[in-house]
Amino acid sequence: MSEQASKTLAGKGAVITGAGRGIGRAIALGYAGAGASVCCAARTDAEIRQTAREIRAEGGTAVAFQADVRQQNAVQALFEFAEAELSGIDIAVFNAGVNLDQGSVEGGDPAAWEDTIRTNLLGAYYCARAAIPAMKRRGGGKIITIGSGMGHNGFAESSAYCCSKAGLWMLTRILAQELREHNISVNELIPGPVRTDMDAVLHIEGEWFKSPEDVVPMALFLATQPDIGPTAQSYSLMRRDT
Ligand code: NAP
Repeated sequence: MSEQASKTLAGKGAVITGAGRGIGRAIALGYAGAGASVCCAARTDAEIRQTAREIRAEGGTAVAFQADVRQQNAVQALFEFAEAELSGIDIAVFNAGVNLDQGSVEGGDPAAWEDTIRTNLLGAYYCARAAIPAMKRRGGGKIITIGSGMGHNGFAESSAYCCSKAGLWMLTRILAQELREHNISVNELIPGPVRTDMDAVLHIEGEWFKSPEDVVPMALFLATQPDIGPTAQSYSLMRRDT
């Protein structure tokens, strides 16, 4: 975060799930660098506290809240905490995700399948239910879902992840329709392959293998569009058709 970073998000409150590491951490640092007050959420308390500490050390404003997005009550508590601490929620990034089942449909682990769907899809649904009332109170807002090219194309032995992200893609579109009249835009950001702890990276020939920081400009672009701006869209950082 540089002193010179333009403060395009000054006065904005942003909740980022999965902000303890990887893409979510980079987006939290990027938004705070642009002047937003951010709430970092994930299950691992030490990691989100570390992200928030880094932001504050750079002069930004950040709080951390431990929450498992699979638990509706925890998600509700997260957004209530964030709305109070940030004086309102303008931006929510549904980034928390896992890729737990990498077997075939026939041979994979049903429990891992269920857990992937519960985290990536049900978790986003819970986040939306909690974020919408806060954004309505604010008079508008922006929801950014972190999707995947794997949700737009099928990949063998990744059915849980692909189905969860395909569902998230559809949820993005339905939310956009339901929230248009409330000036809340809902768009999907597809990062493409990023080097993180997630074991979801496909080695696709000719693809751009990014660092988490490479995702930040697109996340900033989406966060700085007008609330009545583009909605129900997918923005991909991939170099091929998603
Ligand atoms: P990562 O480094 O593993 O980070 C995932 C984050 O999500 C962590 O902070 C993790 O924290 C959190 N999380 C996982 N389960 C959670 C739960 N139940 N409740 C709350 N937080 C939870 O992975 P990443 O690569 O940055 O992935 C971030 C997002 O980008 C995911 O949605 C992923 O599908 C998407 N994506 C990644 C790639 C890629 O190539 N890396 C490509 C396309 C899309 P805790 O474990 O502490 O909860």
